[in-house]
Amino acid sequence: MKYDQVLIRFGDLMLKGKNRYIFIKKTLQLIEQNIKDLNVELIKKHDRVYLKLNDVETQTIEERLLRVSGIASFSFVKIAEKNLESIIEVGVELLNSRLEDGTKFKIETKRADKRFYLTSQQVTLEVAPKIIPQIKKKFSVDVRNPDVILQIEIRDEAVYLFLGSTKGLGGFPVGVAGKALSLLSGGIDSPVATFLAMKQGVLVEGIHFESTPLTAIESAQKVIDLAKKLALYAPHHQFNVLMVPFTEIHQEILKSIPNPYIITIMRRVMFKIAELLAIENNAYAVITGESVGQVASQTLPSLQTIEAVIKLPVLRPVLTYDKQEIINLARELDLYEISIRPFADCCSIYVPKNPATKPTEKRALQYERYLNNLDSLIEKAVQETSRWTIKPDTDLELNNYGFTVKEAWEVIKHD
Ligand code: ATP
Ligand code: MG
Repeated sequence: MKYDQVLIRFGDLMLKGKNRYIFIKKTLQLIEQNIKDLNVELIKKHDRVYLKLNDVETQTIEERLLRVSGIASFSFVKIAEKNLESIIEVGVELLNSRLEDGTKFKIETKRADKRFYLTSQQVTLEVAPKIIPQIKKKFSVDVRNPDVILQIEIRDEAVYLFLGSTKGLGGFPVGVAGKALSLLSGGIDSPVATFLAMKQGVLVEGIHFESTPLTAIESAQKVIDLAKKLALYAPHHQFNVLMVPFTEIHQEILKSIPNPYIITIMRRVMFKIAELLAIENNAYAVITGESVGQVASQTLPSLQTIEAVIKLPVLRPVLTYDKQEIINLARELDLYEISIRPFADCCSIYVPKNPATKPTEKRALQYERYLNNLDSLIEKAVQETSRWTIKPDTDLELNNYGFTVKEAWEVIKHD
């Protein structure tokens, strides 16, 4: 059995007026971007959106719609004519092809077209006794606690029948909330945090501090490969990564800062650079994959000491997630296998065994004075930052270009 259409429902019905209009318009744009290569038609009705399927596989459609934030749910629909015989015929076909043995179900009718000659309840009472004897599967009718509901919607133009719905990403259409920069390390947490911010409507650009050749070029490769996955959810399937050359600063920190404060100072400098780049790029916030945990760099005193260095808001979407929840989401998004590739980024390499769990801002400021020319090092890093536009099909192996990201960029920027 082939479905005729997909009925798409939008999230957050609390939104009213102009906001709702902008929200829907943006979600529609994202849907269009995700289906433009498919032979489907988008049909906009005042309060609904349908996709006419023209024989495109339901699995393909499902995959595409699950990339669009702002979609609350969707249902694959069969269309019947506006008479009882047609509703019964389509209802039987739908149930016989989709109902599994042992399922409890019920029939529910919604009449949007008030001119239809029967009420919602009358339709259900008329069609149920005629549909049920024709079902070939083992089933039971359970109106209180059904596994599946056969929904019959009588609308102006036709009658729509469907069984249940698929949950969409929810949230808000990516881009509707303005831009933020997300610190992407290549680990498990920051890409998940990035996705969650995108899902909430934030247009995200990644920012990665790379320390090649101090760290392996493969750790920057992880960020590129994660960006390819995140790009699936981004507007026009493009995800930008700001690549910050961090090697000199990294070396200077390792040389001059007392061991327990190395991570603290490294993060503070990252935040400072992120803020400068955020301002330059019209971004309103900084996102990290930090959580409140047992790791020294993620105690509250530590988060406070690090964050004190900038004015922009710091968003931490995975703050309340435990590690398993983050891993589960990373797996669902196909990020996990990339994140666990065994290459350390600059925060995990040469890390001290005794990091401060209660660093203070006062100490941090004092130690930062040990750094030679910090301001000019920061300025140089900002100036030499490169912007990489990554798409899901970007074919890029950094180590084909040498040992450092800089070497790779020199070649790639001319392509
Ligand atoms: P992740 O799994 O994202 O690496 P984590 O739990 O390992 O997070 P840390 O290594 O303590 O945490 O880093 C905390 C956050 O700092 C990261 O989530 C990320 O947002 C940011 N960060 C750390 N290293 C880098 C880097 N080299 N480039 C960009 N951001 C970084
Ligand atoms: Mg990490």
